[in-house]
Amino acid sequence: MSGHPSTREEARTIDAADPLRAFRNEFIFPEHQGGPVIYFTGNSLGLQPKAAASALTQELDDWATFGVEGHFLAKHPWYSYHEELTASAARLVGALPEEVVVMNQLTSNLHFLLVSFYRPQGRRVKILCEQRPFPSDTYAFASQIQFHGLDPEECLVEMRPRNGELTLRQEDITARIVELGDELALVCFGAVNFLTGQAFDIKAITEAAHKAGAKAGFDLAHAAGNLHLRLHDDGPDFACWCTYKYLNSGPGSVGGAFIHERHLGTDLPRFAGWWGHDKKERFKMERDFKPMPTAEAWQVSNAPVFSMAVHRVALEQFDRAGMGILRAKSIALTGFLRRTIEDISAANGNIFNIITPDDPAQSGAQLSILVNGDGRGIFKQLTQRGVFCDWREPNVMRMAPAPMYNSFEDVFRFGEILAECVKR
Ligand SMILES: *Cc1c(COP(=O)(O)O)cnc(C)c1O
Repeated sequence: MSGHPSTREEARTIDAADPLRAFRNEFIFPEHQGGPVIYFTGNSLGLQPKAAASALTQELDDWATFGVEGHFLAKHPWYSYHEELTASAARLVGALPEEVVVMNQLTSNLHFLLVSFYRPQGRRVKILCEQRPFPSDTYAFASQIQFHGLDPEECLVEMRPRNGELTLRQEDITARIVELGDELALVCFGAVNFLTGQAFDIKAITEAAHKAGAKAGFDLAHAAGNLHLRLHDDGPDFACWCTYKYLNSGPGSVGGAFIHERHLGTDLPRFAGWWGHDKKERFKMERDFKPMPTAEAWQVSNAPVFSMAVHRVALEQFDRAGMGILRAKSIALTGFLRRTIEDISAANGNIFNIITPDDPAQSGAQLSILVNGDGRGIFKQLTQRGVFCDWREPNVMRMAPAPMYNSFEDVFRFGEILAECVKR
């Protein structure tokens, strides 16, 4: 996959040599005028794996056949359903199996983890996050700060880019952490920012946070299934993610959480529920909480089997593909998209300005572009012509080719359509 194709034929030749090419046919694409749309919104809601329907039907059938006994007699017993997902989820984020649990949804997991890892004390009360985190994360941070009787205006610190720059520099993030020093309780970044597409250095941020005596956590909503993560080695204290974006597990599907090994079996405070209780004694239903010695200690409720059934299918695809190969393709595919957009921009009075850093260490599948001109109009035309990308007011367009199912031909066709939309 070297060089960028300049004709549709060349794009097809690259696709034919793609080791992941067979995966495209495992997904259902929405259609436009009888053909598949150009689907670049896998960062928002991944496509449906064809195998999702039979996985769901299996659970409905087992429910019909076994009733309550399905907890133990179902093909995938519901009692321990989440356990079937652990090994794959751990591989996906580069963690030990005991560090990972699939549970709840993203913002809920963020709250549960903040309960354990945001422990303001004395002067050490602040949370540092990236510029403009996803609103749900801001609400979670602010409400947790208030929950401790503190003021979000004082305690929630957003990192801003330098004047005239659109994304953050690692040296500035490190310097800010040093500067906040013993006022800093937690650094919590989106590993990939949803708006700019900038990917952050998890290891460097974690090391700086720890050096300052603070905890480090990451929201992996836009990183899980996108970047090649190594959470255990990079060492953050916690992370959480959703599974409906790059992980293709369906709208509102179950989330995931990582708690670093160093915190397992410790007496960190947490909001507990019966599914976090030692599973050997869970059904003794005793009064005192005895936590699981793994990340499962953070579980509160029993497994949402329908969501997990789809997630199981999706994780199995990621296992088969391998995050290393996916990421290699993603770098080439998004690199091709970047050159395509740059060429169109140069030919049209620099109408686009790509926000996402041009460095694979600082970006994933997504490109975010500023449109200088009638962005809304261009976006509308793209939509009418069967291109799925997304628009954020006032002038940001985001597009993310997913290496699991997007092709070089998709990017090539996108370029043809975008060039026509710009010229109008
Ligand atoms: C998508 C996304 C969410 C959504 O949260 P849910 O709890 O799954 O609804 C939250 N945070 C970030 C950073 C996201 O990208």
